[in-house]
Amino acid sequence: MDTVIKVENISCGYDQRPVLKNLNFSLGRGEMLGIMGPNGSGKSTLIRALTGILQLSKGRIRLYGKAIEEYSVREIAKQIAVIPQQTPITFSFPSLDLVLMGRTPYLRRFQGESSKDLEIALEAMQRTDSISFRDRPIHELSGGERQRVIIARALAQQPSILLLDEPTSFLDLNHQVEIFDLLRRLCDNDGLTVLCVSHDLNLSSEYCSRLIMLKNGYTYVEGTPEMILTHEHIKAVFETDVTIIKSPYSGAPQVILKPNS
Ligand code: ADP
Ligand code: MG
Repeated sequence: MDTVIKVENISCGYDQRPVLKNLNFSLGRGEMLGIMGPNGSGKSTLIRALTGILQLSKGRIRLYGKAIEEYSVREIAKQIAVIPQQTPITFSFPSLDLVLMGRTPYLRRFQGESSKDLEIALEAMQRTDSISFRDRPIHELSGGERQRVIIARALAQQPSILLLDEPTSFLDLNHQVEIFDLLRRLCDNDGLTVLCVSHDLNLSSEYCSRLIMLKNGYTYVEGTPEMILTHEHIKAVFETDVTIIKSPYSGAPQVILKPNS
């Protein structure tokens, strides 16, 4: 498998405060990697590090073999799209305009979007089932509708890598499955590489080929869903008792919570 991202023993944090410690992993073309871990374990920090905006205190991140700091912001934006945990939107404008912003890395200075850019933006909205609110102001959409528009913006960027930070938090059940199905298809058919932070262990298990469980900023375990989602690991990392069963649909491990009383 072609290596797209290689994380080589990185440590980083904020103002001398270490958060991530000695992380090592690689991501291949078309792969979907799930990142899980309790609140504060460093998941969002990892996403920031992978976009090159956080200074590493140790180690190196390589993008297609080249150190990430050797890329310009624009070059990175053509390869990596990010769906942050929260997207602050200060102005209200039509959803389609937000999706068109995904085309920015491809536009020359002072150049407007072409009909081709519009076509790409509309197709991205089709794919995330958000086309029906293309003309509605982004502020008037529900959390889940807005999230689908934001995912469309990321797709309009035509990245080779997509980093998602808890993308399904605001989505109802059918859209959770739709978005993960879409991601899986993009990986399988178009060779998109996906790194997805999710607190939904069961969705991650169903869709990701590999999982990394973080604890206090270091990799606690990494491997296939079968290797990672065990009672022992979840007890150690999330301090919760669970039972693992196999999905009757796919055979993927699924986590069943145990009530305390
Ligand atoms: P997660 O996404 O897994 O919940 P984060 O990566 O957001 O965790 O945070 C990891 C740690 O880094 C936490 O202790 C958090 O308080 C701290 N942290 C996150 N963002 C900042 C920031 N901008 N400045 C200082 N500390 C931060
Ligand atoms: Mg987070």
